[in-house]
Amino acid sequence: MIQVAKEQDVQLKARVLTEVLPYIKRHRGKTVVIKFGGNAMEREQIREMFASDVVLMRYVGINPIIVHGGGPQITGYMERLSKEVRFVEGQRVTDSETMEIAKMVLVGKVNKEIVSLINRHGTLAIGLSGEDGNLIMSRKRFAPDGSDLGWVGEVESVNREMIERLIGFELIPVIASVGSDAEGNSYNINADIVAGEVAAALKADKIIYLTNVKGIMAQGGLVSRLGVEESRGMLENGEISEGMIPKVESCINALEAGVNRAHMIDGTSEHALLLEVFTDEGVGTMIVGGQDKDQGET
Ligand code: ADP
Ligand code: MG
Repeated sequence: MIQVAKEQDVQLKARVLTEVLPYIKRHRGKTVVIKFGGNAMEREQIREMFASDVVLMRYVGINPIIVHGGGPQITGYMERLSKEVRFVEGQRVTDSETMEIAKMVLVGKVNKEIVSLINRHGTLAIGLSGEDGNLIMSRKRFAPDGSDLGWVGEVESVNREMIERLIGFELIPVIASVGSDAEGNSYNINADIVAGEVAAALKADKIIYLTNVKGIMAQGGLVSRLGVEESRGMLENGEISEGMIPKVESCINALEAGVNRAHMIDGTSEHALLLEVFTDEGVGTMIVGGQDKDQGET
C-alpha cells in the first residue's frame, strides 16, 4: 500500500511539472510588474514564500519587477512614535515628519527586508526608492475634494531606461513607493499607482496586485474576469471602493498603455503568485484590455 501511495505522489509531481511547461514557454523573456501590498506582507512566512516565488520566476527567464507599499507598517511606527495618523479619502495626510517616517519605514526597512529575502537565494535583487536614479519623478497631488494632503505625490515620469538596464543585468528591481521632484522634495505615493505607471512605462506583459482579498468582489462573489469598460462602470457605481480604487484605476491606465493583462490576487494565501503564473487555475480577478493577446487562457 505504501508503495502505491508513493507511486501516485511521483505521478502527481510529474503532472504538475509538465503542466508548468507551456507557462514557462509563454512567459519567458516577459516583464511582469508585481505590487506587493502592505496588508499581504504582514506574515513572515508569506514574505518568504513571495520571495521564493519571485526567484523561481526569475530563474525560468521571466523579468519580475517588484513595487511595494507598507501602509500598515508606516502606521505601526507612527503609533510607536505617538504621532497622529490621518487619512483623507483613503490617502495618508503626510506632513514633513510623516514623510520622514514613511521613508525610513518603506526604504530603510520594508524594501531592504524584501531584497534580503530574495538575495538569500542568490545575487538577484536590487532595492531602490523612486528617488534613486530619479526613478520616479513626482509632483504634488491634492485630494479629489481639493484638500491639501501634504507630501503626497503622483507620478510625473518613470525612468524606464534605468529599470531596463537593471533587468539587462538580470537583476530584480525592488521599488519603494517614494518619489521626488526636481527640487529634491520627497513624496509619498500610493504603491498601486507607482506599480501601474512602471508597468505602463515598460509596456510590461502583466501587472499583478497581491492584496488581502481574493480579487474584485461584486454581488457577494469573486469576479474572475473583467474588461476595461466593465471596470470603469464598477468604479462609477461604487462597487469598487477604498483601497481597490487606485488598483483598478492603475490597471486601466496600464492596459491602455499596452500592458496585456492585470491580475488582482490574494497575497495572503500561500504561493498565490506561483499559482497565478504557472497553473491553469488562474486565481483571483483578471482585467483584460481590448487587445488581449492570450485570449481565452488564464
Ligand atoms: P493593499 O495593501 O493591498 O493596497 P488595500 O486595503 O489598500 O490593500 O485595498 C484592498 C481593499 O479594498 C480590500 O481589503 C477591500 O476592503 C477593499 N475593496 C473595496 N471594494 C472592493 C471590491 N469590489 N472587491 C474587493 N475589495 C474591495
Ligand atoms: Mg492600498
